[in-house]
Amino acid sequence: YIKQFKKNYEELTSRLFKLYNETIFEKKLPEDMSITWNKRLLRTAGYCAYKRCHGKHVARIELSTKVCDNAERVRDTLIHELCHAAVWMLNQRTDGHGPYWKYWARKSNLSHPELPIISRCHNYSISTKYTYTCTQCGYQIGRHSKSLDTTKKVCGHCHGRFELMGTPGSKEGTPRTPNKFALFVKENYGSAKKTNSDFKHKEIMQLLSQQFAEKTKLDS
Ligand SMILES: [Zn+2]
Ligand SMILES: [Zn+2]
Repeated sequence: YIKQFKKNYEELTSRLFKLYNETIFEKKLPEDMSITWNKRLLRTAGYCAYKRCHGKHVARIELSTKVCDNAERVRDTLIHELCHAAVWMLNQRTDGHGPYWKYWARKSNLSHPELPIISRCHNYSISTKYTYTCTQCGYQIGRHSKSLDTTKKVCGHCHGRFELMGTPGSKEGTPRTPNKFALFVKENYGSAKKTNSDFKHKEIMQLLSQQFAEKTKLDS
């Protein structure tokens, strides 16, 4: 099964890459760009690594086998990371999810209206207790313990510093933005309870996390 999955998904990614390179990136991304699958990647759906090789900007994408476990996730994650790769290779810079990244994300959505709005975070990352946020670009990473040495580790997108956010996230696993979500719950719990007075606490929390997910989708 795993083998089959791997084969199918490798085919899927290479087909999608060819398509998007044509329709979005004007065939300017190198055809042989490295896009690999990593089964140990658990905290994010994918990432894009940059380097300079003989003065040339090269990028490599890794996708998480465990997080990208359906075709939509593969597609959405791939396109998100391709936008990072394009910023590095075509615009020759890193800007996290800044204006250059947003330009490519918008272009992706214009060329492919069938895609969901490309968001800054991979909303479905496996949840972790502690979230570190880049103070420059807002990129977030999760850790299961307070293990990140913020004096050493810098953001892979913009080399900014990380900062530990708020309190540990809830078990509901609302990923990535536990503090914003907590605030959202605080503001909306009362009214949600009023309009759905027969709901149990758990159901209200489910409702709120749905609303929150929709809201953050619209915001980004
Ligand atoms: Zn990103
Ligand atoms: Zn950053």
